[in-house]
Amino acid sequence: MTQILSYFPNLTTLQKEQLSRLYDLYSDWNEKINVISRKDMDSFYEKHVLHSLAIAKVISFKPKTQILDVGTGGGFPGIPLAILFPECQFTLVDSIGKKITVVENVTEELNLKNVSPINSRAEKIDKKFDFVVSRAVTKMDAFTQWIQNSFRKESFNILKNGILYLKGGDLTEELQHFSNARLYEISNFYSEEFFETKKVVYIPFS
Ligand code: SAM
Repeated sequence: MTQILSYFPNLTTLQKEQLSRLYDLYSDWNEKINVISRKDMDSFYEKHVLHSLAIAKVISFKPKTQILDVGTGGGFPGIPLAILFPECQFTLVDSIGKKITVVENVTEELNLKNVSPINSRAEKIDKKFDFVVSRAVTKMDAFTQWIQNSFRKESFNILKNGILYLKGGDLTEELQHFSNARLYEISNFYSEEFFETKKVVYIPFS
């Protein structure tokens, strides 16, 4: 939590309380089903919460922004972002029901009114969003196929509506068909070694 507070010094008391409860909530769920790799629980705030919040270093979503998290698993990056942006609406989708059960429970425990968990394949979602966020789900080619009809046409944020995907390593080949992709190095935001090769990939879609 100290890491989070140093990078996000303006959190409200409620946000600090919600973020600090995440560890216990996910530890409890991890004893029942494997939502977070067990070895990662040691560095839960760095590898999961801070990583998710890297998107907030790229864009501060305006109130009423609609965000879809595709393949959210137990709720990443969607849950930390929903805590940070309480005036935005988050739809968290995963095709595995028990992962969505975890998201539902965390949402309820933290009283997050801006999160809608949905058990579905991303391709089946027919609502429109301003941004689609994701981490560790599939390659960009397939991903863009799934969500190509998911964007609202009008943009009202500082970035045009589009994808904000957390990815790592050399992306030259994966992104060769995306000449409009913009890469934000997370190491410019955070100093921890874990973020050295990690990026937020932004692809405008409207
Ligand atoms: N995003 C989370 C994270 O970073 O912790 C979970 C990543 S996990 C490796 C990938 C998740 O994507 C799985 O929970 C899987 O069920 C989900 N997934 C894969 N294909 C999907 C699809 N077409 N629609 C919705 N969810 C999908």
